[in-house]
Amino acid sequence: MSNVTELFSSLVFDDKKMQERLPRITYKSLKKTVKNGEPLDISVANAVANAMKDWAVEMGCTHYTHWFQPMTGVTAEKHDSFIFPTEGGGIIMEFSGKELIKGEPDASSFPSGGIRATFEARGYTTWDPTSPAFIRDKTLYIPTAFCSYTGEVLDKKTPLLRSMERLSEVAVKLLHLLGKEDVTRVSTTVGPEQEYFLIDKKMYDQRPDLIYTGRTLFGAPAPKGQELEDHYFGSIKTRVSAFMNELDEELWKLGVLAKTKHNEVAPSQHELAPIFETSNIATDHNELTMEVMKKVAERHGLVCLLHEKPFAGVNGSGKHNNWSISTNTGENLLDPGKEPQNNIQFQLILAAVVKAVHEYQDLLRLTVASAGNDHRLGANEAPPAIISMYLGDDLGALVDSIVNGTEYKGKDSSDMVTKVNVLADFQKDSSDRNRTSPFAFTGNKFEFRALGSSLNIACPNYMLNTMVAQELAEFYEELKDKSDLVRAAKALIKKTLTEHKNIIFNGDNYSAEWVGEAEKRGLCNYRSLPEAMAHYVDRKNIDLFEKNGILNESEIRARYDIELEHYTKQIRIEALTMIDMAEKNITPSVISFVSELTDAALAKKSLSSSVSVYVETSLVEELSEKLEAFVKKTDELKQAVSGLASVDGSLEKAVYCREKIFALMGELRTVGDSMEQKTSAEYWPYPSYGELLFGV
Ligand code: ADP
Ligand code: MG
Repeated sequence: MSNVTELFSSLVFDDKKMQERLPRITYKSLKKTVKNGEPLDISVANAVANAMKDWAVEMGCTHYTHWFQPMTGVTAEKHDSFIFPTEGGGIIMEFSGKELIKGEPDASSFPSGGIRATFEARGYTTWDPTSPAFIRDKTLYIPTAFCSYTGEVLDKKTPLLRSMERLSEVAVKLLHLLGKEDVTRVSTTVGPEQEYFLIDKKMYDQRPDLIYTGRTLFGAPAPKGQELEDHYFGSIKTRVSAFMNELDEELWKLGVLAKTKHNEVAPSQHELAPIFETSNIATDHNELTMEVMKKVAERHGLVCLLHEKPFAGVNGSGKHNNWSISTNTGENLLDPGKEPQNNIQFQLILAAVVKAVHEYQDLLRLTVASAGNDHRLGANEAPPAIISMYLGDDLGALVDSIVNGTEYKGKDSSDMVTKVNVLADFQKDSSDRNRTSPFAFTGNKFEFRALGSSLNIACPNYMLNTMVAQELAEFYEELKDKSDLVRAAKALIKKTLTEHKNIIFNGDNYSAEWVGEAEKRGLCNYRSLPEAMAHYVDRKNIDLFEKNGILNESEIRARYDIELEHYTKQIRIEALTMIDMAEKNITPSVISFVSELTDAALAKKSLSSSVSVYVETSLVEELSEKLEAFVKKTDELKQAVSGLASVDGSLEKAVYCREKIFALMGELRTVGDSMEQKTSAEYWPYPSYGELLFGV
């Protein structure tokens, strides 16, 4: 590996390169936009475009693309070359400010949730100067936002950028009120920890379920799973290590701050965590990370699975969204400081987050809902579908003292004593961890742990930013004219925490008692996407987005429809894949095995009528019975899928998919897996769980 400091950001048109290559005045003007959120000066664009193009061409690029994040859930790109004809019949490499600022992909083929008729094709992508351009595959990638001709937002980046600006605006006002006049901008920061599986490409290629749906739809458990807990943080296999090293290098070149890597709980499962950045860049970088993971895996004969639940019976993959707010003066607003009991500013921010999570728990829940994540949240594994917050002992005690008006005991800042001479003692963190909480305070940030591994993190973050902005705006209104600000702030904090402390839960979120307790507290428990998504269009949620200028009602309704339709399509694809596997491979394979057993029994009998054919006969009987049930279930599933066409309404369709189709898929799988356990491996048409999970 070459020098990492040189390698880092070598494929990014970063600040250093801009400073070197742009006229001073252009650079300064661009910086104002990027750092202070000031409107972009159009005259700057030509100079930037030219410098970007020169650099990209020097680096061997021939094309550029506007890179955007439509509602499909994956990124989109359309490549244009830099070539421009000259009079003599030759070409030059050209890139104008206009081309940098505005792209025009056909919007009609991207989901718009019915806000656009398909004949209304015009859509625009607009350069996002706050996220740097970069090079991949000889192409200059320009991060952009995406909207329709009539201005409706069609992507995930625009609401994220708006929510960051909105949060900044209200937080700055509040901080000024509290005497922090030097703060001019507040940014949200995010560090997403990414889980994934790596499996052998040769096995993957034999599994239509993995190819079409990203998860296994059949598969009996292997004799060994994750029960020995020997994979978590275990020594990394050579092949995986080679993959991880190359992944780090590729990400570093793209300016992604890849930091931590380790094996995860399930066999073949791993994690990568970057150092946090502003929400916008963290989102772009997480999208890039997922794409680069897949590409690098291919080069190692591996496939990277980002599905939330590729394998039944072992842990699925999630993403932990570490989130905080900091000022342009370098202060983390979620840092309790040495004396949180006397830190009014921290208490106000904390109270705002507590109130936000309580009032908009449904939005947090639905933003992480997906067909894949339904297998985790509220199903066989953690985190739970009930949104609650963990504050830890210290902050928990602080909240109690505020609510009850009692004295705060202070935090445990004792040293960790190792009782071994050669091991140094060190200071402990102020609170322990709670791995079961979906929304946990971890020292100076919150960790939202309910995200699915494949999710674009823009959505949970713009929801989080918006709901906290709303609370801070309310706080500002409440406090702005008060003569005794401290007194008023203390009263507000006490009132807020008293009213919303029901969202705080420091216990075991996986326990059965919590479900009952949460119900008593009036917390939502939405177990599936259709249940959760129905609340997207609740009046209070529409009001939240409209009041804060993030999305309007028709855009929210569109998003709601897109999510539901996407879910319905996914379940339908899964069902059709199962039917295909059942009819074309599983049923014929079991028939062949049964007939071989029958032939074997007959052959034995023809040798001597006294020879025992007990084993063959009982297997033939058992498998024939299962096979009959299997074929009947397959037919039932087929009928259920055709019934979908007669269901009206996007929510109704999604509910039908969940209650009818998905339920039947589970039943079909149970019979299928029990046949796999009784069928010779030679006959079974697909690589087993053992081969998939332990094959690398
Ligand atoms: P772990 O949770 O695995 O113990 P850390 O707490 O060190 O690890 O960090 C987890 C993630 O949180 C990392 O991606 C890190 O960059 C991110 N993180 C740390 N501080 C902040 C912050 N102020 N804002 C957002 N993310 C943060
Ligand atoms: Mg963590």
